[in-house]
Amino acid sequence: MSEDSAKYAVSLEKTYRDKPIVDGKCIKIPSQATQQVHKRSEGLSFNGIVVLEVVGYVLSGKHYRAIARCRCPFDSAEFLAYLTHVHSGMKKSCGCSTDRLHAESASRHGDALPKSKFHWLYRFWSGVQHRCYSTDPKYRLYVGRAPLEPFWSDYPAFKRQWLAVRGDACPMPGESLDRTDNNARYSLENLRFASRSQQAQNMSNTLYAVGPENLTVAIAKLYQESGSCVKYTTGLSRVRRGERKLEVAFESADLAGWEAVC
Ligand SMILES: [Zn+2]
Repeated sequence: MSEDSAKYAVSLEKTYRDKPIVDGKCIKIPSQATQQVHKRSEGLSFNGIVVLEVVGYVLSGKHYRAIARCRCPFDSAEFLAYLTHVHSGMKKSCGCSTDRLHAESASRHGDALPKSKFHWLYRFWSGVQHRCYSTDPKYRLYVGRAPLEPFWSDYPAFKRQWLAVRGDACPMPGESLDRTDNNARYSLENLRFASRSQQAQNMSNTLYAVGPENLTVAIAKLYQESGSCVKYTTGLSRVRRGERKLEVAFESADLAGWEAVC
């Protein structure tokens, strides 16, 4: 019996003790005929749960409810449950089925367990799923921008592809995966490990400048490396207002020859 179901059983037993039942003193008990109907469930199985015995009744609001001692189909543990929950199929196990589901997903791929320590690749994958299939307008740039290859929709398949194409490369502390070419779709070849500041320079609203030998570099990066005394935002707003020459916008000779791309 799992910890949760043990708690559940304890709370039922407590209620049972607090409101003595079947002795007819404390609460209204169901008629003999109704009790007979409940007794008929004894020995029967509902969705695999075997009702061993109707042990009594507890008052729930205005109604009494039959409590049954049952046997769990998965681990044969005995537990107490409302008979109606067993009949309706709401109760599926002593509580161990949740643990079992977790164990099953752990055996599919172990990367989502424990939840607090998702594997970095799983974290990246689920982020992509979220961005690319979200209905949130915030992600409209991602949704439908470039369709993903089919293996992206299934994590184990994605992981196999990743290992085949990229091997066991993994990020350094502070790095995560992003796209090398931000306008191309997510593909294994178009992914790189990048730090936060590298990623910030690679957003679709990043401004670029062209310089010597037709090099294209993010303005933020050029600014960082220049000796400019102008605030970055000031220079950037000059660029946005139409000043193409970075040397002028950022008032720095280090940026001579660089022109903003608009
Ligand atoms: Zn169980």
